[in-house]
Amino acid sequence: MLFTGDLRLHDHPPLRAALGGGRQVVPLFVHDSAIDAAGFAVPNRRAFLADCLRDLDEGLHRRGGRLVVRSGDVVRETCAVAAQAGADEVHMAGEHTRYARHREDRLRVALEADGRRLYVHDGVVTAVDPGTLTPAGSDHFAVFTPYYRRWAVHRLREPLTAPRRVPVPGGVPSEPVTARTEVGGTSPGLAAGGETEGRGRLTAWLHGAADAYAERHDDLAGDATSRLSPHLHFGTVSATEAVHRARRAGGPGAEAFVRQLCWRDFHRQVLAARPAASAQDYRTKHDHWRTERTAADDIEAWRRGLTGYPIVDAAMRQLAHEGWMHNRGRLLTASFLTKTLYVDWRVGARHFLGLLVDGDIANNQLNWQWVAGTGTDSRPNRVLNPVVQGRRYDPDGAYVRRWVPELAGVDGPAVHEPWKLPQAERARHDYPEPIVDLAEALTRFRRARGRD
Ligand code: FAD
Repeated sequence: MLFTGDLRLHDHPPLRAALGGGRQVVPLFVHDSAIDAAGFAVPNRRAFLADCLRDLDEGLHRRGGRLVVRSGDVVRETCAVAAQAGADEVHMAGEHTRYARHREDRLRVALEADGRRLYVHDGVVTAVDPGTLTPAGSDHFAVFTPYYRRWAVHRLREPLTAPRRVPVPGGVPSEPVTARTEVGGTSPGLAAGGETEGRGRLTAWLHGAADAYAERHDDLAGDATSRLSPHLHFGTVSATEAVHRARRAGGPGAEAFVRQLCWRDFHRQVLAARPAASAQDYRTKHDHWRTERTAADDIEAWRRGLTGYPIVDAAMRQLAHEGWMHNRGRLLTASFLTKTLYVDWRVGARHFLGLLVDGDIANNQLNWQWVAGTGTDSRPNRVLNPVVQGRRYDPDGAYVRRWVPELAGVDGPAVHEPWKLPQAERARHDYPEPIVDLAEALTRFRRARGRD
């Protein structure tokens, strides 16, 4: 059983199939050298992954087994383990990125050359797999709402319980499971990983704050979202099970939460059909100025949370501190970079992927494109004004004061426009002046887009 983005024991169809008929199984995880080489294994995700593997290993020990960990080329290592264990079959979850398909093809060929078979199971990483729902005349949905209508009535498989026992054969060597503390350079406020943590969070969420999610999900200071994204990314929580349990819990909050889970599947089906969208505009915009513009100082100020726009800076500092950012923060910081500073979305997407514990090619790249107006948003030219966003989603300014200590002494919503404070007070704050004039930036953006 080759684990990838499905690091759990509950609701795991490939593990169930591998164990079928009381067989022994080698639960295998390979630290994939290709993912390291691509720069994707950044400290925050490596640390979260370490928690996930440790928890998976502990869960397997409780069931009479253990996790086998290897590092290197995933195909070579899997074939070597299959040979050591004398396995006839290898099972894994189906994934639909270009890389995952390539990995699967290579693995199938290599295993078949040794007389073994690869079984790839759908419906493990997503609730509804790419390609399951298609509109007339296209291979994917380009608009969310019609996709959601179909997705919401699609019958999902029932979630599976965890196996009681996982017997593992001897004689298959493993590397030690890395501890999170061995990973350096992580964000200080990084969340803990692992299936136990993820399941606990899902249960607590559905019995508590989910109720108010429909009204409060955009409240930046209230922090009223599930924070399940890293668990969904690493598969420590099953999307299928989360949908079932939320539907059972019922109510407008749970319904709104299920709708958000649908966005995950939506972006995956777009990327599966248009793999180039991870690096290229999904809808081509012929605005060369954007792609040629470097604006190094602006970009650096944005990255460090020193733009002089408090709500933008607060969100960027949350990202650095936690390796996670509230969705509203992601929307407004991405809009600020791509539309106010008019910097290419790939610059921002790269910075996010370097820090986000939930950093995910489909969700990150396609949400960036959505905000930049090169993706699936039907209103590609809307620009989020950071002052309006601050006043609306952080009405009292508590989120800004939490993350921008220079402004902690400014009461109420005045914190969103520190340039309007009396000169004597401004001098005390040591907070930067705005790096860009919003009205001029809006004119620049509209003029540039008008040339499309
Ligand atoms: P909740 O509000 O509790 O939502 C529940 C789950 O639904 C999330 O955990 C997530 O899996 C899914 N979800 C919610 N919103 C979206 C969305 N817009 N697109 C796709 N799935 C969604 N999400 C990632 O998981 N990884 C990323 O790399 C990522 N990058 C983003 C970049 C930008 C510029 C933007 C605007 C959004 C990005 N998102 C990404 C989507 C969203 O911001 C996060 O999923 C969400 O903030 C995670 O917090 P939560 O778990 O508390 O979400």
